[in-house]
Amino acid sequence: MEDVEKVKTEALQLIGAFQVLPKLVVFDLDYTLWPFYCECRSKHDTPSLFPHSRGILSALKDGGIHAAIASKSPTPHIATTFLDKLSITSMFVAQEIFYTSTHKTDHFQKIQAKTGVPYNSMLFFDDDNNNIKGISKLGVTSVLVINGVNLGVFREGLTSFSQNWDASKKKQKRSR
Ligand SMILES: [Mg+2]
Repeated sequence: MEDVEKVKTEALQLIGAFQVLPKLVVFDLDYTLWPFYCECRSKHDTPSLFPHSRGILSALKDGGIHAAIASKSPTPHIATTFLDKLSITSMFVAQEIFYTSTHKTDHFQKIQAKTGVPYNSMLFFDDDNNNIKGISKLGVTSVLVINGVNLGVFREGLTSFSQNWDASKKKQKRSR
């Protein structure tokens, strides 16, 4: 089993290494935070997370960066039951879990309205490339996850976020 504290320490070191940071990190659930589709599970099951998920979430909390959920699960009651069973419900300032035919743009509109965080201050992780493409267009730094959230993809996300931030500041300066 992965040591949660070890992952958390490394994630906090990563957070400390960047001058610009997102204000809010948004996660998909199925195959991003946990390794299954919750529609294929019973709410009586005992769920588990990907090995690095909990350490990264708790580093965000300690690092003062908010977290939120954007999930298109057709079984939100199973998703919220699992979040409770895993004792991570309180780690999220917004939880948008509902099915829609769009690529999560309505989830992000709701998250934006609830938190007041602008799209360019958000970082998003998802395993579905259609969602990544759709949400990038809003101005959110969006990173594709292949084997669940882990320290490698977390570093990649923070790096892309700060590059996008620098690029948009340069653009602003040029247009002045
Ligand atoms: Mg997913």
